[in-house]
Amino acid sequence: MFQLVEKAYKYRFYPLKQQKEILEKTFGCTRMVYNHFLDLRSKTYKEEKKSINYNDTSKFLTSLKTKNPWLKEISSVCLQQSLRHLDRAFISFFKKKSKYPNFKKKRNRQSAKYMKTSFIYENDKITLAKMKEPLNIRWSRKFKDAPTSLTITKENDDTYYISIIVKEKIEPLDFKKKKIGIDLGIIDTITDSNGKSTKNPKLLNKALKKLRLRQKSLSRKLKKSKNRIKARKKLAKLHLYIKNKRLDFLHKLSWQLVNENQVIAAERLNIKNMLKNRHLAASISDVSWKQLITFLEYKSKWYKRIFFQVDTFFPSSKTCNSCGHKLATLALSVRKWNCPNCHIVNNRDENAAKNVLDKAITEIKEKYRGTLGNVSLWSLCKTFLEDPKKATNCESGT
Ligand SMILES: [Zn+2]
Repeated sequence: MFQLVEKAYKYRFYPLKQQKEILEKTFGCTRMVYNHFLDLRSKTYKEEKKSINYNDTSKFLTSLKTKNPWLKEISSVCLQQSLRHLDRAFISFFKKKSKYPNFKKKRNRQSAKYMKTSFIYENDKITLAKMKEPLNIRWSRKFKDAPTSLTITKENDDTYYISIIVKEKIEPLDFKKKKIGIDLGIIDTITDSNGKSTKNPKLLNKALKKLRLRQKSLSRKLKKSKNRIKARKKLAKLHLYIKNKRLDFLHKLSWQLVNENQVIAAERLNIKNMLKNRHLAASISDVSWKQLITFLEYKSKWYKRIFFQVDTFFPSSKTCNSCGHKLATLALSVRKWNCPNCHIVNNRDENAAKNVLDKAITEIKEKYRGTLGNVSLWSLCKTFLEDPKKATNCESGT
């Protein structure tokens, strides 16, 4: 039985002068609306201990438009979407999934979302609201159905992209009697419960080295100098290159994990710890981890796999997977350790991945004992395959 899922297709496009102007205006207006309501929501909460939700902000938007008539010059849909975007940022913060929302800056990457009513899709051409000409898109691959929404992005290096959301039918993958646990390491290395480790592609590591050099070079340039602007553009270009290379790598990795295994287990990421990581390398691995987890989450949902996350405070590295003996401490630098109880040599990451998998299986079985009884992991998986409603409760482990 197929599922209808939302898939994103991203393309580069080259706006005409007049289109650039309209987009600039749109980014400016959506940024203003976002920041205005972020400020309002924060203040109301601080001063009155009350929270404003999406519907409230939507009502206030009308009066904001009356006071600032220039807001009416762009598609109203984009302004509404900016409020939705802000609302999602707050929801994610309250769920402890991300940091408190930040103000949007002109200097950073800009984006605006268009819903069905604010663009025309005809003869493989897309024309945005307030524009006369269709966008000049470099079509690199095809999609079947009509787009339901799209997002326009202008990156820091002044390149433009369009991300098109299309609803597509997806068939679940065939049942596979295989399970895997993964341990997320520093700088894009993951080790799985089969002892296999996957490292960053070499090209990406090279670029990361270059990034460190360019960042240093930027910090040496005089403030507001032409050279500084140039250095910043160069840095932005490299950041974008790294991001795309990493996404490509993580897409392949997550697809491989989902394709080959019926059950995938990982640790839940701890945002509090992640925020403490101020180092460049560490902050970059944070981004990759988050991204990988997101990919695993939705791909498992698409292809009817079970993706389960266990608690971060579970001592996966310190516990011997063979006998269950728990060490009092284990320094980060120790990559291999001898179990004092059963004398087996444990490879740190592989041992952690095995523990994560075992813990996940115990928790999955426990969770469904009430409804499905004391069944094996595989018959549990088959039940989920046949009854997708039950599976939807299982991905996050909460
Ligand atoms: Zn042991």
